[in-house]
Amino acid sequence: MATTRRILDLLRNGQPGETVTIQGWVRTKRDQKEFSFVEVNDGSSLAGLQAVVSQDVPGYADALKRVNTGASVELSGTLVESPAKGQRIELKAESITVFGEADAETYPLQKKRHSFEFLRSIAHLRPRTNTLGSVFRVRNACATAVHNFFQERNFLWVHTPLITASDAEGAGELFTVTSMNLDTPPRTKSGEVDFAQDFFGKRAFLTVSGQLEAEIMAMAFTNVYTFGPTFRAENSNTSRHLAEFWMIEPEMAFCALDGNMELAESFLKYVFKYVLETCPEDMEFFNQRIDNTVLETADNIINNEFERITYTDAIALLEKADKTFEFPVSWGLDLQSEHERYLAEDLFKKPVIVTDYPKEIKAFYMRQNDDGKTVRAMDVLAPRIGEIIGGSQREERLDLLEQRMADFHIPAESMWWYLDLRRFGTVPHAGFGLGFERLVQFMTGMQNIRDVIPFPRTPQSAEF
Ligand code: ATP
Ligand code: MN
Repeated sequence: MATTRRILDLLRNGQPGETVTIQGWVRTKRDQKEFSFVEVNDGSSLAGLQAVVSQDVPGYADALKRVNTGASVELSGTLVESPAKGQRIELKAESITVFGEADAETYPLQKKRHSFEFLRSIAHLRPRTNTLGSVFRVRNACATAVHNFFQERNFLWVHTPLITASDAEGAGELFTVTSMNLDTPPRTKSGEVDFAQDFFGKRAFLTVSGQLEAEIMAMAFTNVYTFGPTFRAENSNTSRHLAEFWMIEPEMAFCALDGNMELAESFLKYVFKYVLETCPEDMEFFNQRIDNTVLETADNIINNEFERITYTDAIALLEKADKTFEFPVSWGLDLQSEHERYLAEDLFKKPVIVTDYPKEIKAFYMRQNDDGKTVRAMDVLAPRIGEIIGGSQREERLDLLEQRMADFHIPAESMWWYLDLRRFGTVPHAGFGLGFERLVQFMTGMQNIRDVIPFPRTPQSAEF
């Protein structure tokens, strides 16, 4: 019995003369007079392995009738040098088994190129296409790089809850989690739904961020990171927003904004480098077929220092810009995606870290600057994507934090544990949140965030 090998392994290491078995799905079949070419892909690499199935193979005629694009097969035989261009080896088949057929009339993935929109409607089959295959291999490599990066630096991976009762962060964007009967929920005397009688004894939500819990863990382990799903019920149908997305949130004690910026920059450089090294074929594919600046962008990220400017300087640059924006620019207003892209894409042509935003437009936990107007926030803006990272140095001074919470009408009782962190052993600390799908988008050049997660959750869409 020949051992079953993955196709990536054979393409890289297989030697002529070896007997092997492969298993996978047929991408194409081309019948010649006395034999057929069958290209098989098992998801381990962009390229499949070509098998030559000749008439001498037992059951040839019957098997080949059943082998169409999409069918699942097992082939055994001998590796031989390939006379064809662009492939080093091919498989001279000695036996073929068909597990499952795929009817040529009804299997949706025939040879022609499909739109990404159409592929989203068949999310159960699109992983078998070249593009989505490359996307999910690169996504896997990015996730591996995330862990490698932090583990090499002694950051503790912490698991923060998906269900939370704290709504301080995401007003308006929260999904409620309930076990109440929605037809007849318990009500208070005044007629409101009585969440005191709900499962958790108070209203609970899906988390929009693991940061506050990560801060707790950083106050014991110094350097930690989260990497898990987050949820936002934002009804924004953009190419950069999902209702369920994965976020990476490092949090560092004894660290100010400079250290935070350094970490963000070395993190992005590390991940790009890792993916280029481990998925060269996939990255080449994106550069050829999706966006011809992908490799140049990666090179640019790895080899150039990110630009660093303050929000105040960014506004001045935008006001001078030789470009008309849809949304107004003036000190005090938040930067819109078009402004972010202008800075990163047109002006600096590389990632830009914007710091020290007006305190009114940033979260309550960001550290106040001495000017009384701005906070120690930082956003990393990337060409094509806009904001990819949002972070800050946190307010570690109890009185100033309490004052900010009052400004935002956040009741101190609801956050007593968060305030305790400032009562007991408080230290300067900082961290950021990076949207994992935006990172994969940035890496691959994919236009729409729905095409870099296997099963996208967006308004009106949760079929698969
Ligand atoms: P944006 O202004 O683009 O909506 P944000 O300011 O709401 O972003 P943060 O709250 O700072 O984002 O979240 C941290 C990171 O999470 C962002 O930098 C981004 O990469 C990512 N992110 C935020 N919202 C989404 C979303 N709905 N889908 C995917 N990624 C997101
Ligand atoms: Mn948002």
